[in-house]
Amino acid sequence: MGKKLLHNPGLTFLILGFVLVISIFWYQSAVRAYDVVIDGRVAAQVKDKQAFLQALQERKDYLAEQLGYEVTELEKIELRESKVDPELLEENVQKLVLQEVELGTEGYRFVVDGEPLFAMRDKDKLESLLEEYKQQYLKHIDKSAKIKSIEFKQDVEIKKTLVKPAEFVDVEAAKEIVYAKEQEATVIEVNEGDNLWLIARRYDMTVDELERLNPDIDPERIYPGDKLVISPFNPKLDVVIRMENTIIEPIPFETKYQKDNDLYLRQKITVKPGVPGKKRVTYDIALVNGLEASINIVNEEVLEEPVTRIVKVGTKRTVSRGGSRNYGVVQGTRVSSSYGWRTHPITGRRSFHDGIDIAARYGTGVYAYAEGKVTFAGWNGGYGKVIFIDHGNGLQTRYAHLSKIYVSVGERVDTGEKIGAVGSTGRSTGPHLHFEVRQNGSTRNPWNYL
Ligand SMILES: [Zn+2]
Repeated sequence: MGKKLLHNPGLTFLILGFVLVISIFWYQSAVRAYDVVIDGRVAAQVKDKQAFLQALQERKDYLAEQLGYEVTELEKIELRESKVDPELLEENVQKLVLQEVELGTEGYRFVVDGEPLFAMRDKDKLESLLEEYKQQYLKHIDKSAKIKSIEFKQDVEIKKTLVKPAEFVDVEAAKEIVYAKEQEATVIEVNEGDNLWLIARRYDMTVDELERLNPDIDPERIYPGDKLVISPFNPKLDVVIRMENTIIEPIPFETKYQKDNDLYLRQKITVKPGVPGKKRVTYDIALVNGLEASINIVNEEVLEEPVTRIVKVGTKRTVSRGGSRNYGVVQGTRVSSSYGWRTHPITGRRSFHDGIDIAARYGTGVYAYAEGKVTFAGWNGGYGKVIFIDHGNGLQTRYAHLSKIYVSVGERVDTGEKIGAVGSTGRSTGPHLHFEVRQNGSTRNPWNYL
């Protein structure tokens, strides 16, 4: 039946004619108009091109006056001639402009790892804000250090682009975004009797980590009430500083012992005192958000060789207790800090260490340097548990940070007598013996006495 109908030429002609008549009827009722094409999409149709363009210009002028700067279209606007049903025409061109046309101006978008954070009109203000943010981490760095670079760890970009006025932020708002923290730092307070070693143990960290997180503290001088960071704050923007710093450091001298049959048992005579040498050490340092991330020695230059101390000994049985790492008054593992001035490679802070620190296992025996009389035995401030021994002729030795004391004030001790045990009391970073020598009240390099 359908096949028959299509094969009927008369009927086909009739249908075509009908379509033609409808088309003509529509064309006559449609009017000439314009498609308003925004960013490739027909947003509306208007009758009067000029009226639309005028409404657009009026809107721009109005905004320019309100904002104080010229604005332009953010998207491409085209007016294309078209035919349209008059009922679909947009009569209110002002409303059309207001609703469909985005206006804006040139600005600078701050983009971090591809994510736009905010936009500012003034590029200089944005740049100086970022510069100020980076510079904050230079405050605690040695002024004489050579700063090689200060950069954001993130991929940071200042993109020149068209921006809607509402997107612009002022300096204060921008600051808040740039200085935002993803996580606050955890800060604890030092208690009575605390030291770095105990605090590190309590928070399951190492003394090194604790010192790294608190570059401004002197590890041997922390007091109750002091605040310590145990986990750093995590900013949205990380700053990496690469720097080089050159520091003069002491080179400890060695001691040579010469047996001498003319000397009595236990008698020691320094024939030639030792003098520490000097070296110039250059460190290559990387800091992330002001905290040490890596530190390496890149160059070492000896400025003055140390002078070896020569000692005549009348016997093997002095305070020496044998073993390869014998530091005379204690069986230590290494010298963790020597006598004299030290300079912190990052902060440049100078401090004087008035003894030597010999790292040793907790509880290791501590022995009297020579015979003498105990003048102090007990707790004494930063020393923690400490013993002072007077050897006569203005010579005094001190043994600090002990865990146990076996002698009492007034007691006479013999050379090599066990007087205490290694600990970490007072201002101490870990189990070690702080051994100090004083001659007529002023400190001496203990290496000239051991
Ligand atoms: Zn010390």
